[in-house]
Amino acid sequence: MTKRALVTGVTGQDGAYLSQFLLEKGYEVHGVVRRSSHRGVEDHRLRWLGISGKVTLHDADLIDLSSLLRTVQDVQPDEIFNLAAQSYVASSWRQPVLTANVTATGVTNMLEAMRLGAPGARFYQASSSEMYGLIQEPMQSETTPFYPRSPYAVAKLYGHWITVNYRESFGLHASSGILFNHESPLRGVEFVTRKVTHTVAQIKLGKTNELRLGNIDAKRDWGHARDYVRAMWLMLQQETPDDYVVATGVTTTVRDMCRIAFDHAGLDMEKHLIIDPAFYRPAEVDVLLGDSSKARRVLGWTPEVNLDQMIREMVDADLERLRREP
Ligand code: GDP
Repeated sequence: MTKRALVTGVTGQDGAYLSQFLLEKGYEVHGVVRRSSHRGVEDHRLRWLGISGKVTLHDADLIDLSSLLRTVQDVQPDEIFNLAAQSYVASSWRQPVLTANVTATGVTNMLEAMRLGAPGARFYQASSSEMYGLIQEPMQSETTPFYPRSPYAVAKLYGHWITVNYRESFGLHASSGILFNHESPLRGVEFVTRKVTHTVAQIKLGKTNELRLGNIDAKRDWGHARDYVRAMWLMLQQETPDDYVVATGVTTTVRDMCRIAFDHAGLDMEKHLIIDPAFYRPAEVDVLLGDSSKARRVLGWTPEVNLDQMIREMVDADLERLRREP
């Protein structure tokens, strides 16, 4: 029997890699798309991976319960991956209520749609290491207390706990993956890794001369999105639903990540990097470092790509994209 998956946020980085992964496993993949007037551009990541015709798209929105319920009833998925969110931390201070509606309440809407429309399905919630915020332990695991530091992180924390609550209240097979930062050539340019690799490629091709960043002392545990979507799937293959940290266990400053990109392009970082306070945040998450030993032990998961390899892949992809542009 072919398995059916329903993916919210299917047009995002993780949605695209997860769809590719599931298609390779023989799944029928359905995606939820929030239609805008920019029709045609929203599936560019699926096109980049060569799978855009292979994913069936449904018009629905996380803030519109009836649209989700209708989609779940139509698709009758075996597995639901809730990846959609207002996921950009800096924007969450400018649009805090929207962030709460989508990133927090939206999870309840999706869980309700599943409970009413396909209660036997398995559910994955995309939780985030940002929930640790002002870290309470040097390495963050499933048992580390949370201390969110942005409206985004507060909303994600709600999404995490409502997932746990629906599992405990209704016996749903609902799991929450606490994923540390994960990047790729398909990452949005709003995020620091892709901003860096994209700008470095522009500098290399003479299209700009400077890279403006905020706090380059911040440290993140960065992994590759392709590795991380595999962990999502593994969680839903377990007999019992549970929560898992997914991380590399290596933390690096924004500055050192940047240096990898400049070095790979054969450029001198000191000549181009400018610190611009406009990119400082009202509250910062200084350092994140994940302990994914539970995922490694129970799921047999292990990351295959390190930061060096990933940043080089991203710079190369950005150079290729810019060279192809007219
Ligand atoms: P986040 O961990 O989900 O907030 O992922 P980001 O990639 O947006 O940011 C990672 C870190 O890079 C944060 O500590 C930011 O403050 C820092 N950072 C420094 N300069 C920039 C910048 O220009 N853009 C972004 N997005 N982040 C920056």
